[in-house]
Amino acid sequence: MTDLKQPVVLTGDRTTGPLHLGHYVGSLRARVQLQYEAKQFLLLADTQALTDNMGSPHRISRNVLEVALDYLAVGIDPTRSTIFIQSQVPELAELSQYLLNLVTLARLERNPTIKEEIRLRGFERDIPAGFLTYPVSQAADITAFKATLVPVGDDQLPMIEQTNELVRRFNNSVERAVLVECEAVLARVPRLPGIDGKAKMSKSLGNAIQLAASPDEIVKAVNDMYTDPNHLRVSDPGRVEGNVVFAFLDAFEPDIELVTELKAQYRRGGLGDSVVKRELNERLQALLAPIRERRLELARDPAGVLAILSRGTVLARETAGATLCDVKAALGLSYF
Ligand code: ATP
Ligand code: MG
Repeated sequence: MTDLKQPVVLTGDRTTGPLHLGHYVGSLRARVQLQYEAKQFLLLADTQALTDNMGSPHRISRNVLEVALDYLAVGIDPTRSTIFIQSQVPELAELSQYLLNLVTLARLERNPTIKEEIRLRGFERDIPAGFLTYPVSQAADITAFKATLVPVGDDQLPMIEQTNELVRRFNNSVERAVLVECEAVLARVPRLPGIDGKAKMSKSLGNAIQLAASPDEIVKAVNDMYTDPNHLRVSDPGRVEGNVVFAFLDAFEPDIELVTELKAQYRRGGLGDSVVKRELNERLQALLAPIRERRLELARDPAGVLAILSRGTVLARETAGATLCDVKAALGLSYF
């Protein structure tokens, strides 16, 4: 029997490249848990990835399979979660079209995440219109599934706020509760920094450790990690704040006492970067080895993975189609 109060989850990732440890702590860990408690839809956001990648569209479509492999490798179970491809659900684009009329250009330009992304990408005034409006398409993705929970990293909070604004505007304008407001689910580590010390690990910034990283790549990434530039000799007191190695230990080392002890020693002086890095390397190797193995095994059967996505996409279309029917009826757009 279906539990009527069961939460509905919609989350996803842009298919700009394989997923990394930021995704893992920011939302993948939560998604693996949520699939046992909620009805979960996972979106492979190829359409959204194209909003700033029209110069290399095939890279975006190629990465759909990579991200799907990451999902399955970390423990997303396709019998519990519906994994689907955004571009193959045209109902989402159609719903976006209506929602676009409920937001102003000024409001889109005020979205702090978009502002930062525009700066990072160097768009200045040459912003692709699709990019500026992607929060609306994201709102369509969320509302098409009547999602109540959205597990995200903290860079996505402005998107959730914008989604709920659109829901309220839409419902007001049709004078009934057709769309449903949602709530962000923030992880314990809402933002993992990049190995270079930049605030966010990101596919586009080249500062990531991929879930599929080889043992050597992990060693190299940990060695390259930004620490405290003034911690020159082992005996020097060091800074833990802004030190990427400690940020990673906070995110990945379950032995909190050990991390507290290491931080205290580091602050006092007498603990070398190499010792802390060795500890982190061991932790990351242990986390990623089983994921990598499972990923390699799954990658031997790409047709099997595509079949999972095809089944998921059929299911997703049914749900999004039903919402779109309600939306169009509420707008009076049901003529025949
Ligand atoms: P791109 O550079 O293509 O934007 P990205 O690495 O920023 O890629 P997204 O696909 O935009 O990743 O993000 C998908 C989800 O993962 C979002 O919920 C986002 O908040 C979360 N996420 C991404 N990077 C991090 C991170 N470093 N820490 C925590 N969460 C993250
Ligand atoms: Mg991003």
